[in-house]
Amino acid sequence: MSLTLDSPVQYVKGIGPRKAEALETVGINTVAELLGHFPRGYLDRSNTIDIGRVAKDAVVTVVGKVLAQGTMYGGKHKRFEIILGDDSGHISLLWFRGHKYFQDRFKKGDILAATGVVGWYNGFQLAHPEIEPLESEDKVGAHTGRIVPLYPSTAELGKAGLSSRGFRKAIKFALESCAQEFDDHLPVDVTDRYDLPRLSFTMRQIHYPDSLDNREAARRRLAFEELAELQFLVLRHKSKIKEIKKAHPLKKHGALVKRFAKALPFQLTPGQRQALKTLYGDMAADRPMNRLLQGDVGCGKTVVALAAAVYAVENKLQCAFMAPTELLAEQHHTNWKTTLASIDVTSALFTGSLKSAARRLLVSRIAAGKIDIVFGTHALFSADVQFKKLGLVVIDEQHRFGVAQRAKLIAKGAAPDIIVMSATPIPRTLALTVYGDLDFAIIRGLPPGRKPVKTVWRMGSEREKIYRFIAERVANKEQVFIIYPLVQRTENSDLMAAEEAHREFSEKIFANLNVGLVHGQMKTAAQEKAIRAFAKGETDILVATTVVEVGVDIPGATVMVIEHAERFGLAQLHQLRGRVGRSDKPSYVVAVASAPLSDFARQRLNYLVGHSDGFELAEADLKLRGPGEMFGTRQSGALNFRMANLSSDQDLLQAARDLIGKALEQGPAHDSCGPNQSQIVEYYAAKSALREKIAEIA
Ligand code: ADP
Ligand code: MG
Repeated sequence: MSLTLDSPVQYVKGIGPRKAEALETVGINTVAELLGHFPRGYLDRSNTIDIGRVAKDAVVTVVGKVLAQGTMYGGKHKRFEIILGDDSGHISLLWFRGHKYFQDRFKKGDILAATGVVGWYNGFQLAHPEIEPLESEDKVGAHTGRIVPLYPSTAELGKAGLSSRGFRKAIKFALESCAQEFDDHLPVDVTDRYDLPRLSFTMRQIHYPDSLDNREAARRRLAFEELAELQFLVLRHKSKIKEIKKAHPLKKHGALVKRFAKALPFQLTPGQRQALKTLYGDMAADRPMNRLLQGDVGCGKTVVALAAAVYAVENKLQCAFMAPTELLAEQHHTNWKTTLASIDVTSALFTGSLKSAARRLLVSRIAAGKIDIVFGTHALFSADVQFKKLGLVVIDEQHRFGVAQRAKLIAKGAAPDIIVMSATPIPRTLALTVYGDLDFAIIRGLPPGRKPVKTVWRMGSEREKIYRFIAERVANKEQVFIIYPLVQRTENSDLMAAEEAHREFSEKIFANLNVGLVHGQMKTAAQEKAIRAFAKGETDILVATTVVEVGVDIPGATVMVIEHAERFGLAQLHQLRGRVGRSDKPSYVVAVASAPLSDFARQRLNYLVGHSDGFELAEADLKLRGPGEMFGTRQSGALNFRMANLSSDQDLLQAARDLIGKALEQGPAHDSCGPNQSQIVEYYAAKSALREKIAEIA
């Protein structure tokens, strides 16, 4: 019987019931699924070096035969040693730990690839090299196996005989004996259009590439598949939202919005007006708005969202204005309640720390429609809070809201309009994935009169100078933030932390100044008190953690010192930097790095110093750190690509979005569309259903 892709994996030569059982535990049941187990890397034998040609201190990969092996007791250390030889010479591989493990792992005549740094002690040696057992030499000879796949495995799989090498054998056999070609769900004109290889080529070349170019082509096709699955998820969500009819499309547009604009202490910038026009347009439509409002730090997103809120109020609708922290919700409320009251718009603050009587009262007033704009935290979405007529939800500074949570929000009101405001500018590729179900609106430019923040970075050894600078600025009636990555020093960490620093500053270094402290582990009231004191100028220096990174607005602060700056990402540093430079005085950011500093961290700090555009910094951050780091773990679940790289595969993302967009537009239901389109929709629907489940769990 010949092997097909649907054959149970057990029929692959060399895979008996025991291996099949082990494979089942990792979700591999069929030949097709086995072929979906992709290499974690490759050994490129065209890059390996003859053993006779190694040089001290070089990082090398050598391939040879085990000539001898054993545990050695001579000298100071017990060690396990292998003598590996090829035609040109031999070299020792040494391990000072784990003798037991190595003892029965290899036998004389085994072929190994070993990677490590070459040392010299009575001959060349590699200490603790990385080892990859290979098949007998003829099989990995110059022609057939120049590029050898290395497969991920686990201790359990290894025990069942499915180490990297075990997978290599099984997959090679499956590829050779399965005559059936992969059924490509994409028509040829599509793969041609995006310059992608066919699935059969892809599956062969990802496992046993004939060249690195072929392997890259295969990777691109698989990356495209990953991106297409995610695009299917977000675009289908988007089109579902668009099917909903809004309960309250907005009609009147004028008097109240105009009064609001007049009540502002400044004029909206052209960038703000442009964005607002987009929002107004959406709100007047009969489908709910779903917009991501972006702009650089300090561009003035809040007032734009608030103008939209006023427009909703003019239409007798309520607005929920959500901030990520109580502190920020309070600040919004404090900043805006007077202006709003002056145009007869009622507002209130709703947070989790409301006393029960006050809470009950507020809940009833919200339900009765007596409050127009409610500022709050996500406490606003507890079950007992019911709006009379919720027309708009603003989610401020949210990088922690996923597609699923937004869907819940929509379910709560009668399809309210939604504005999501991102704290930092989001690189386009990330926006199209994480926020791919939203439309975008970007506020270009900053309010007039902003002076660029002068940014430098210094090593910690220059702290004294920095402290003198701080003292000078304070003497000049300016205020200073000093930021720390942690609240408390943790065990085995030599990082100075906020609490400790605060003690040292207030008792010693700046004993004659007022030094405040704020961090996320303080009670909300205490946090607010500290920030308020700083905002009023009662404290000169505020020692803080990143709780101040979002939103907090303190015009008197002109200096920000960021300690252990190497610990922060670029986007976060930029966000922190946005806390100063909010007055007409010159402002400064001093990023202090502690030794030892990696080249990578140095590069990041130089980039921060040299760039002030948040969008550029965000792109760089994505390149340098990847999406997971940038976004925190919650959303990176959806961004766990095996093949795609969001910073270098922008073209693929666009292509995937294109294809899925078109396929969904035509949809499977229409007879007029060719079999291909509906086939594409069905295929990705099945795939994304799986993905959605995974995302829900994450
Ligand atoms: P972000 O977009 O970072 O959230 P904010 O909304 O907090 O920025 O605005 C930053 C500061 O700029 C606030 O103090 C706000 O009052 C002020 N601001 C907003 N728009 C303008 C404008 N058009 N002219 C002058 N100042 C403005
Ligand atoms: Mg803001």
